[in-house]
Amino acid sequence: MQKVNETRATDDRGKHTTTHRELFLMPNGAAIIDTPGMREIQLLGADDGIEQSYEDIYKLAEHCKFNDCSHKQEPGCSVQEAIETGELSESRFRGYLKLLREQAFAQRQVDKRAMLQEKKRWKKVTKSSRKR
Ligand SMILES: [Zn+2]
Repeated sequence: MQKVNETRATDDRGKHTTTHRELFLMPNGAAIIDTPGMREIQLLGADDGIEQSYEDIYKLAEHCKFNDCSHKQEPGCSVQEAIETGELSESRFRGYLKLLREQAFAQRQVDKRAMLQEKKRWKKVTKSSRKR
């Protein structure tokens, strides 16, 4: 019912194979849920996900003095204010920052890959035009 993959010979660890969540009902009434590991690349386009998960922070940010506020040290930052008053917990804010960093990292990896592919493509193009 599910795609499976060999485990790695070096450390017997599995590889991420399935990419979607699925619930299986067993004949004996038990339920098994497959929750595949998240690949880094899936963070891409996760902007909406971050915005949904941290809606409170985005709402607060609407009242920041600066549109491009990083909520770290800018004056008139509503997010920092909410942390000070206890309206927003510091650990929640840290979780939000961590997710942003991970997303930026994943984006950079993809950008790097895209750049290399583009380079390769141009190499081919210039090679074939030289032949002509
Ligand atoms: Zn702010």
